[in-house]
Amino acid sequence: MSVTVRKIEEMLNALAPMETAESYDNVGALVGRRNQEVTKILVALDATMDVVKEAENIGAELIVTHHPLMFHSRKNMMEEDVEGKILCEMIRHNLSMIAAHTNLDKTALSGSACCAKLLKLQNVRQEGYLFLGELPSPMQASDLQDAISAALHFPTRRYGDENKIVSTLAIGGGACDEEWLEAKQLGAQAFLTGEVRHHNALGASTDGFVLYDGGHYGTEAPLVPVLTEYLQKQLDDVQYNVRVYPSQCEPFGRM
Ligand SMILES: [Zn+2]
Repeated sequence: MSVTVRKIEEMLNALAPMETAESYDNVGALVGRRNQEVTKILVALDATMDVVKEAENIGAELIVTHHPLMFHSRKNMMEEDVEGKILCEMIRHNLSMIAAHTNLDKTALSGSACCAKLLKLQNVRQEGYLFLGELPSPMQASDLQDAISAALHFPTRRYGDENKIVSTLAIGGGACDEEWLEAKQLGAQAFLTGEVRHHNALGASTDGFVLYDGGHYGTEAPLVPVLTEYLQKQLDDVQYNVRVYPSQCEPFGRM
């Protein structure tokens, strides 16, 4: 049975309702046409030019991403900037695109939830965008830094006392460092996020708290295989003959 872009958008909407996205966000079907038939889907964190070429190479009609395009409004689609080039390439190759961004961040398939799983956190609970839980056993902040780098396959930076014992870790992937105070109030001794600005690094470590910067990419890329698997299962359950692929692109090379 064939499926359309609209149907995939509905599936994503059932998982992560588009109206739960932040007002500044840009989610849902963003490029292409909703009545386009889909046989192959490529899932990626970002619709980079490499990802678009990858979709062309595997013969996908649809790219599902976490980060939207046209996050900031555009007044033209000239190929004079990176995004303009990507949009024109997608349209030339009849590719559609759907983004699930801050609406996905509030679900069990968010980058933060996926990181919690990779770190084997116990008793995981959600507070807004944050997911927190207990480590399998308490560990020193410096050892936890190594464990995070290994789990995310991404080099992680630590701000705070290396000897601090951490038993509860909060996670807010991507650009979330302002929420370290909430993480602390929720009872965590450390907070893993994707981008740490100096004032938060300084504030947290002065306050006896530990901040980890696992990279925006490092803390969100784990959602790609999980979202791929989710969509494949949904499609298989209703016997749509569609293959869903996780992107193999590594935008920063091997870290
Ligand atoms: Zn992000």
